[in-house]
Amino acid sequence: MSDRVELRQVSKVYEGVTVVETLDLSMKAGEFVVLLGPSGSGKTTLLNMIGGFAEPSAGQVLIDGMDVTDLPPAKRPTATVFQDYALFPHMSLANNVAFGLRMRQVPKADRLAKAAEMLKLVGLEGFGSRGVHQLSGGQRQRVALARAMAVEPKVLLLDEPLGALDLALRRQMQEELVRLQRRSGATFVHVTHDQEEAMSIADRIVVVNKGRIEDMGPPDRVYLRPASLFAAQFMGESNVIAGRVVECVGPDIKIETAFGAVVIAGDGTPGAAVHIALRPEQLMLTPVADSVGLGHGTVAEMSFQGTHCRCHCRIGNLDLILRAPVSAGLTPGRDVALYAARSDLVLLQR
Ligand code: ADP
Ligand code: MG
Repeated sequence: MSDRVELRQVSKVYEGVTVVETLDLSMKAGEFVVLLGPSGSGKTTLLNMIGGFAEPSAGQVLIDGMDVTDLPPAKRPTATVFQDYALFPHMSLANNVAFGLRMRQVPKADRLAKAAEMLKLVGLEGFGSRGVHQLSGGQRQRVALARAMAVEPKVLLLDEPLGALDLALRRQMQEELVRLQRRSGATFVHVTHDQEEAMSIADRIVVVNKGRIEDMGPPDRVYLRPASLFAAQFMGESNVIAGRVVECVGPDIKIETAFGAVVIAGDGTPGAAVHIALRPEQLMLTPVADSVGLGHGTVAEMSFQGTHCRCHCRIGNLDLILRAPVSAGLTPGRDVALYAARSDLVLLQR
């Protein structure tokens, strides 16, 4: 299957400042891709280069193999849901949703029929004659979505579309977006800085930092085996332990750390500074088969989180975050021994 979207050697420079480094990125037909990164990392710029709202300083944008780099947004098979929804306040909902079709010279009766169908799809059946000001934030979000979907885009670009919604509504809309994406078969490119949102909706997460792709892959892979220190720390909480490569031992590597030497999978150059990452829920209070002892420490602080307790444990100079079952009954000041399965320790070379 050929790629639906392909960024080839694309970069973006604003006023002498490089905000997207030269990169390649492709997306499949029907794929739900999430661009995840902190504010200012270049997510919107990437999205806008696909949608035609920003011109690459170098490189090409292809959609279904066709070079669209020089095409304006309306000539591309894309639609965008902007961060602020950008609905037209003076238009009825039906006309808002039908707007893209009007731009494409679709006859009035056809576009209004399509608008009604799209409003139904997003749970706003019969709302066509209402005004934008009569809507809640969540309803506005749905109208923006209906408007973008009305033109049956091959690629739907969503720039932090759920940012303004409260948590319960955000969760609901996340599920609805996934359903809508599966039903439409369009490629969705969704921008967010929320790693939980990214994990819950993405087929593939692209972790962006300072205009570069730090990591890219299915959510579980990026979470469990992050490719870089940045990816490990941005995709949820991670314990990061500094180390130095001692030697390579076949497919494994021996690393000297504050808790002693450890042998894990990977390779590297003796003497190189590296990090080992470990998720809080992977730290254990009892050893399992092939686990590594991280030493004895003290519970320094803890907070009850309902499903678990989040604890800071001090081992020498190390401060490790542990997600302990409530039943472990930990309390501040308690001495604990900490372990991790060797296979859970992730070697980070960059
Ligand atoms: P994100 O969406 O990840 O928050 P953006 O893509 O909006 O990041 O911005 C990336 C960088 O590019 C930021 O430093 C931002 O200030 C800069 N930038 C974005 N748009 C423009 C513009 N039109 N002119 C100048 N600088 C811009
Ligand atoms: Mg942005």
